[in-house]
Amino acid sequence: MKNILKKKLEEKHIKILMTIVMAVFICIAIFALSFFIFDAVTKKRPAQIRQECTQLKEFEWVRSDKRVPVSLPCDLKTAKGENVVLETILPESITEDTWIDYYSSKETRIYVDGELRKEFNPRINTIIGGTVKSFHMYIELYPEDSGKVLRIERKGEAFGENSFREMYIGNSLGLIARILYSDSLFFIFTISLLIVSPITIGIGVFLRVYKKMKSPITAIGIGVLFVALWLIFDSQMYQFAFRSYYIDGTMSFIMMLLVPYPFAYYLNMLQKNRYRQNYIFLLIILEIASIVFFIIHFTGTCDFMTMLPVMMIFTGLVIVGAGVTLFVDFKKGLYKEYRFSFIGIIGFMFSCILEMIFLIAIENRHDGSFIIFGLYWTLVLGIVHQLVELREAKAEKAIAIRASETKSNFLANMSHEIRTPMNAILGMDEMILREAKNNEKIMKYATDIKSAGNMLLAIINDILDLSKIESGKAELIETDFEICSVINDLINITRKKALDKGLTYSFDADPNLPIRMHGDEIRIRQIMLNVMNNAVKYTVTGGISINVLLEPNIGDEKAMMIVSVKDTGIGIKDEDKEFLFESFSRLEETKNRNIEGTGLGLNISNKYIEMMGGYIEVESEYNKGSKFTLYIPVTVVDPTPIGDFTDAVRKMNEEREDYRTIIMAPGAHVLVVDDNEMNLEVICGLMESTKIKVDTALSGPEGIEKADHTRYDLIFLDQMMPGMDGVTTLEIMRSKYDMRGVSVIALTADAVVGAKEYYLSKGFDGYLSKPVKSEELEKTLITFLPKNLLLSKDEIERIAIKDDERKDEKNKTTESLPGILVIDSDPESLKTVKNEIKDTYKGTFVTDIDKANKFLEKHETKYIMISRELYEKKMRNEVENG
Ligand code: ADP
Repeated sequence: MKNILKKKLEEKHIKILMTIVMAVFICIAIFALSFFIFDAVTKKRPAQIRQECTQLKEFEWVRSDKRVPVSLPCDLKTAKGENVVLETILPESITEDTWIDYYSSKETRIYVDGELRKEFNPRINTIIGGTVKSFHMYIELYPEDSGKVLRIERKGEAFGENSFREMYIGNSLGLIARILYSDSLFFIFTISLLIVSPITIGIGVFLRVYKKMKSPITAIGIGVLFVALWLIFDSQMYQFAFRSYYIDGTMSFIMMLLVPYPFAYYLNMLQKNRYRQNYIFLLIILEIASIVFFIIHFTGTCDFMTMLPVMMIFTGLVIVGAGVTLFVDFKKGLYKEYRFSFIGIIGFMFSCILEMIFLIAIENRHDGSFIIFGLYWTLVLGIVHQLVELREAKAEKAIAIRASETKSNFLANMSHEIRTPMNAILGMDEMILREAKNNEKIMKYATDIKSAGNMLLAIINDILDLSKIESGKAELIETDFEICSVINDLINITRKKALDKGLTYSFDADPNLPIRMHGDEIRIRQIMLNVMNNAVKYTVTGGISINVLLEPNIGDEKAMMIVSVKDTGIGIKDEDKEFLFESFSRLEETKNRNIEGTGLGLNISNKYIEMMGGYIEVESEYNKGSKFTLYIPVTVVDPTPIGDFTDAVRKMNEEREDYRTIIMAPGAHVLVVDDNEMNLEVICGLMESTKIKVDTALSGPEGIEKADHTRYDLIFLDQMMPGMDGVTTLEIMRSKYDMRGVSVIALTADAVVGAKEYYLSKGFDGYLSKPVKSEELEKTLITFLPKNLLLSKDEIERIAIKDDERKDEKNKTTESLPGILVIDSDPESLKTVKNEIKDTYKGTFVTDIDKANKFLEKHETKYIMISRELYEKKMRNEVENG
């Protein structure tokens, strides 16, 4: 309590202190402001600061026959080429530090009392075509010049039009202050535009390059830059800031010719190319005119200054054209697409008009403040426009990401949903293949189902891959792998297809290929298989040849595996090559209609190979053939060369033969948990030949319950089960029972990259993807069942022989049994009868009389057994029909 009170008091003190600090600050600020206002208003200037500047206005124009009084500024009309001489009497009271400020660009001599004080000859130092712009010349006066004659001799203009600006007399401070007052604010604002515009351009380029956004502000930035340069070159301050006056006279004209381009580009971008042709047309006219202006100016025929009105007309033409498009957009309501920039440009145009009005209304006014304001206005609104677009793009991106996530989820779910029934189809089909060995027709049907089913699975996998890649979730899983095994499998898959089509198939592997490498084996297989399959698919005559070699040491301890696949197939048109790696893009669709494919393979391959840091090179000639070269970076693990490839493969296959013994483990007890009965049937069927005792459970809790009673050697646990999923089931099992030595394998339908790692991290020992393939299942059993439960090769053979004998025996006995046709509409009773008579009769079981009649048309049977109900029905029918 005491503490809290103390704290509250402290807080109160701090607040009082803060208020005092703020109050003192405000007082000082108010004092400073009042001090300034008092000083400024009462204009108390110390007498030492002398700022003198008055206009020297009244002159006499000295002509050969008379003296004409003139008042500066003025325009004097002379005969062509006649020089102009002006004279005036200097004031009586000239003190130290007195100067005359004379503003001109013409060849001039200035005399005081007949003594030459200043000479300016613009022809000295000019570069070709350089125009000297007007600049300030300063002539120093001394006390003894008081009341003397000031004489200005100026070379006459070729056309007899001589323009004189204001002339000033004063001390240096006064003359400089005058220029600062008249021009500096304009100059500073223009310079600031010169700084802001490159920043705007930079932001625009950044957005374009990194955000892949359209960035009209780049164009407006460039436009503003040119106008700013134009104004600066034209400014009176230029000579003080840059100490040059020769070329800048020309530069301002060149800038003026350049200005319309970025603005037209800017507008065109905003208007989404609606008036592109009009702009191109106007700019071409301006370009032709500009070239003519350049030639005329730089050959010295006539300078830019003289051509200015004509140049203005051409520049104005583009501006008028732009104005018309803006008007049309306004009328159609299209301006709303770029309303901020629209207001910006209209503001700029308005500022230009104001500037012109003031220029005409007030003679010799050189200000440009309206234009500067207009430029800032456009620039700011252009940036606002870009910011709005950026925000919208962000929102759109978020929506797109959400949509893409939804798509990915949908695809993942869909693939799961399809893979689950496919598991049943392919599993059952596998059992048909095993059981129907003697029936060729059924075997053919089952083989067709298998190949179509596998193709469907491949398509689903492709779509799943694509969605992973697009959502950025695809990752590489690198392991050590044996290149011989990869190549051998791929050859096994593709060679048969090629030979079946009557194509030649040649394969060559560099004997120096290292035995073991490190990389994403599954993806490498996938990429190679895709390209090899394509070569077979898109080749009608001739053949395909494959070559694998390794370029060692490409840096980063990596080597480059180079796989080239060449075919003499249909080839690819040059114009189609750019679409080759796009998703769902199949070239020449009509021609290739009969060739199966989705147009996804190369897209996926290309993306995976890029993730690995490699690339695909394509050379192809239409109707002649193609060559796809894969550059795959790998790490060499064991550099021992593979030597002759055929030998290496033979050796590897021998090792594999040993490994691939048929497995049998009559002593093993396995539990399979899956909510789908058909899947349970498939997996049990696939394990039938292994003689393993298999228990099944239809849910997680049922599995847990079963594991309570029995100690299983191996448990297969489905992931996606309603109620309790596999991961939870496993957690409960592991917490409840001693599961040491019991391996648990995850069964899952989502063939997602990284799924295996996920399940291992969740405590599973292995992972089996659905549809379960018999070889994979066998491999899993061999790996995870306790070794002492697996029968040896000899034992298996012995049992297999015995089984065959028993089967033959059974077949024989069944053949010799008397035939019986059982008719009953209730399938359950049929099943019971079937079990009852299986050892005494060779039975045929049907559910209605029609089927029985059909059977009897073609077969003979010794006995017929019919249910009472059907028998009575038959009798009734016969009586009714007479
Ligand atoms: P698809 O599943 O259609 O084969 P891919 O992405 O693998 O999809 O290939 C895209 C397209 O590129 C094919 O549809 C085919 O038009 C063309 N193509 C690919 N490989 C070859 C080849 N070796 N020869 C000719 N055309 C090919």
